[in-house]
Amino acid sequence: MKEAHAAEFDLIAILRDRCAIARADVRLGIGDDAAILAPPAGHELVVATDTLVAGVHFPQSTRPEDIGWKALAVNLSDLAAMGATPAWALLALTLPAAERAFVERFADGFAELAAQHHVALIGGDTTRGALTISVTVLGFAPPAQALRRDGAHAGDLVFVTGTLGDAAAGLRCLDKNAAARGMCETLIARLDRPTPRIAAGVVLRGVASACIDVSDGLLADLGHVAARSGVGIEITAATLPASSALLQSVEEPLRLALQATGGDDYELAFTLAPEHAGAVANDLARIGCGATRIGRVVDGGGVRLLDDAGNEIALAQQGWEHFA
Ligand code: ADP
Ligand code: MG
Repeated sequence: MKEAHAAEFDLIAILRDRCAIARADVRLGIGDDAAILAPPAGHELVVATDTLVAGVHFPQSTRPEDIGWKALAVNLSDLAAMGATPAWALLALTLPAAERAFVERFADGFAELAAQHHVALIGGDTTRGALTISVTVLGFAPPAQALRRDGAHAGDLVFVTGTLGDAAAGLRCLDKNAAARGMCETLIARLDRPTPRIAAGVVLRGVASACIDVSDGLLADLGHVAARSGVGIEITAATLPASSALLQSVEEPLRLALQATGGDDYELAFTLAPEHAGAVANDLARIGCGATRIGRVVDGGGVRLLDDAGNEIALAQQGWEHFA
């Protein structure tokens, strides 16, 4: 795209300067045809990529700073779910126009989260088109300790970090036709600036039998664990954790639907042999990340949401599926 060339290099410089983080393992960063990296000896490389499309993965009205934060956060959440320690990121940015102010604000939000986790932006691509942000993250884990979806066994307990449903309630706050109101500022902040549970993933690696981050909705995501592990999962509805903002803003039965099927919370759902439960709860408490026991792994298949009497609760929709 010749006419945009001056602007393109200008935008790359903004990203490079605002996201500058010194890491000794980056031998060559932004500015050449490719980056040169020195992974730590004896570790496995863990890699994930995720794309955000305007109007699909975030509302068109989202502030550029929050788009930058979220584009990195959803990727770091995937590394958290693997128990990996993040190190490097690549950013493929597609913009409708070479708008300097947008890129500056986007870079600030991206950089704020990158700095928290000491993640270096090592390269990417900049093109013109409908606003789309694709991020690739790379991290490390000790050999054979990364968390996977396929290790859950019947008899394991099921846990989730933090609370569920806030982001989905925040999305309803933005919908002029929805009745939900209340603590919208808090709920929308949860939607716009999810917290990737990196430290929790590190605590869980080598210990949890399976792990996944809750991006599409708890039941849908646990469905992936059940399928990959060849087990069934039973979730007790009354145990699902809710924030005080959610409790004050949304009544039942909508609240349960948001907790069980709303996406975008980016908490970690994991399974654990019962003998590890006490030690893991202590370790998570020490890093300030609460976790709640929400169910158990059983023989069979699929995910069932149960009431206190053990009867299955039917919900209209199990989660967010693209092209559904
Ligand atoms: P090439 O044409 O060789 O692919 P580019 O002109 O696309 O190189 O990119 C020049 C440099 O800027 C490369 O190091 C590339 O990784 C980096 N870069 C381009 N776009 C971005 C971006 N959005 N974020 C970070 N780095 C970028
Ligand atoms: Mg290129």
